[in-house]
Amino acid sequence: MIISTGTASGKSLAYLTPAVASCLDGGTVLYLTPTKALAADQLRGLRELRVTQLRAACFDGDTPFEERTWIRQHANYVLTNPDMLHRSILPRHAQWSSFFRRLRMVVVDECHGYRGVFGSHVAQILRRLRRVCARYGSQPVFLLASATASEPGAFAMRLTGLEMAEVTSDGSPKGATTIALWEPPLTELRGERGAPVRRTATAEAADLLTDLVLAKVRTLAFVRSRRGAETVALTARAKLADVAFSLAGTPVDGSSSTASAPAGGNPGALPTPSTTPPPSDQGTAPPGSEQGALSWGASVPVPESESESADWAALPDRIAAYRAGYLAEDRRLLEKALRSGSIMGLATTNALELGVDVSGLDAVLIAGWPGTRASLWQQAGRAGRDGQEALAVLIARDDPLDTYLVHHPQALFGQPVEAIVLDPDNPYVLGPHLCAAAAEIPLTDADLPVFGPTTPNVLDDLVTEGLLRKRPAGWFWTKRERATDLADIRGGGGAPIQVVESATGRLLGSVDEPSAHTTVHTGAVYLHQGETYLVELLDLEAGVALVGGAEPDYTTFARDVTEISVLASLRSHDLGPGSLHFGEVEVTRQVVSYLKRRLQSGEMLGDEPLDLPPRTLRTRAVWWTLPASEVAALAEEGFDLGGAAHAAEHAAIGLLPLFATCDRWDIGGVSTELHADTGLLTVFVYDGHEGGAGFAERGYARATDWLTATREAIASCECERGCPSCIQSPKCGNGNEPLDKRGAIHLLDTLLRSAPAAS
Ligand SMILES: [Zn+2]
Ligand SMILES: [Zn+2]
Repeated sequence: MIISTGTASGKSLAYLTPAVASCLDGGTVLYLTPTKALAADQLRGLRELRVTQLRAACFDGDTPFEERTWIRQHANYVLTNPDMLHRSILPRHAQWSSFFRRLRMVVVDECHGYRGVFGSHVAQILRRLRRVCARYGSQPVFLLASATASEPGAFAMRLTGLEMAEVTSDGSPKGATTIALWEPPLTELRGERGAPVRRTATAEAADLLTDLVLAKVRTLAFVRSRRGAETVALTARAKLADVAFSLAGTPVDGSSSTASAPAGGNPGALPTPSTTPPPSDQGTAPPGSEQGALSWGASVPVPESESESADWAALPDRIAAYRAGYLAEDRRLLEKALRSGSIMGLATTNALELGVDVSGLDAVLIAGWPGTRASLWQQAGRAGRDGQEALAVLIARDDPLDTYLVHHPQALFGQPVEAIVLDPDNPYVLGPHLCAAAAEIPLTDADLPVFGPTTPNVLDDLVTEGLLRKRPAGWFWTKRERATDLADIRGGGGAPIQVVESATGRLLGSVDEPSAHTTVHTGAVYLHQGETYLVELLDLEAGVALVGGAEPDYTTFARDVTEISVLASLRSHDLGPGSLHFGEVEVTRQVVSYLKRRLQSGEMLGDEPLDLPPRTLRTRAVWWTLPASEVAALAEEGFDLGGAAHAAEHAAIGLLPLFATCDRWDIGGVSTELHADTGLLTVFVYDGHEGGAGFAERGYARATDWLTATREAIASCECERGCPSCIQSPKCGNGNEPLDKRGAIHLLDTLLRSAPAAS
């Protein structure tokens, strides 16, 4: 069964009740979550139940060796993650035999996180788990919990391989939420090719947080990075300090605080409200006050009494920043402070999604599209205490998808949330898990249906490659190596690059080799659980990226040049005068440089060259072509066709995540006025993972909607010739050249023009 309902609707209670009952009845329960932090929180909740027969324990990478034996033999409620199940529990199933024999229920919590390649791996791990359970004679019930998703039953079936019932009606009390879509203005700053740059979402978030806290609205701001969250908190505090200063102990008339700072004043000094002499005891000047009180001074409420005035002075201390990795006690303190109102504003990475129970909020600010409607509603659902009305503001980033969404509310409201896409049949995912399964218990013909329809073919390939041996009794893993090492479940296949902190030797994580070129190249700013690191060196031969903790005031974007060749068109149909294809391609991609952009302003700081080898990727792509006659007609109108196709490609990559639940970094594109394999003007969008991940396929299935949205995103941006909000891409290996904004609109119009109706 899958329960798919909103934030704080009581999902935990729904699975805890039968799970605990199973334990009291002599059974065991396996609880899976994507993160250790969530497992730790669940464990705390279970212990608070004070049920003595319940022997719950976390089993993860941090579990001390001496505790592991106890857990295997005595625990009846084991909390773990897919990684541990894959690497440790399933390969050593014999040591867990008494646990598996009594296994009644498998709880898969937060299962909307299992999408794309990672989700496909988890799907195969769950199939291995089912096979091991069958070996010990148990047939556990799978109970999945997910944020709201469309067609949750179909997703759950793909994830587990089992028929699934779905529970989707959410009866929890909720007040109305007002949703605001907020587009920051274009600034005077100029970016690449003289394009205008928008004010950043974090700068706008800091302003809004200040205004809301002043209005005594308890507000949570979601920001992408920890550094971004801290910047928002610091900026808002500085602004509140300005207010406190301009109101400090003096009668203030509403207009006084709108006065400008004296020109050419002492750089360290505060802007001085014109009618209020600065008090002599003002020793701490808040930094960064050039915008400070000025922009909203007129709306500042006037304190009515001495005590309220003192209240204002304490305002800056009521804003805090939160990040991942806080201890449970700190999190509890924070929850208390938010509930009591001693903290009014909190800026956080989405680390807060996991592990903190925040229920007393009035407003939520979301700096940048969180990737899916499902996450948007999940974050917005944090606002609204005790069924009261609430506010949620989505602040657009300088990006085509964000721009499209703030101009097209209909893409958000009244739309079902996204289907969660995964493709467990991808041979690059399935192969390693078949090896792991054979190492656990030799595979027989009877096992094949468990692993899906492509299993026989993939098994043949594994035998040919010498990874498995076929004997009359089945398929065997006969190598000395651990079969589980073949699958890098959080990456995309290939030997992963280890990300190591150079000062301490601590392993932060791993990145699959193709992604390493774009995410951990030398000089890259690398984000890990909201913390910022700078990559000192990427050593591909050693398989290591050395990083150091750093606080650079810029972000980096790797830029690549790509060539693509068509191996096979698997499906195709007409699209307007052109045609649309889905098929297998070979992509040769070389990361050539990286772009640096200032964090606060979005200003471009330069393009640094890189020396990395080209990589070849066999994957799947969606592409469209336009006949020569149409192309010639557009060229006659004076459009630059290469620039038009290139602009359409960039915007299409930006918009695909609206339809395929991917990140723009999961996909890539190539566009050309004349492609060698098609002989036509062609635009490709491909899956950036070996073997494909289902994103391009989704683009093919939703092509008309996707390309219509792409056209709209370009047309609705008010810039003249293209900017990062529409057709410029931060990862363009050609430095965003050539691009033709009007040409792209006409090109897409041509493609989307339905064929003249037959008479
Ligand atoms: Zn634009
Ligand atoms: Zn480009």
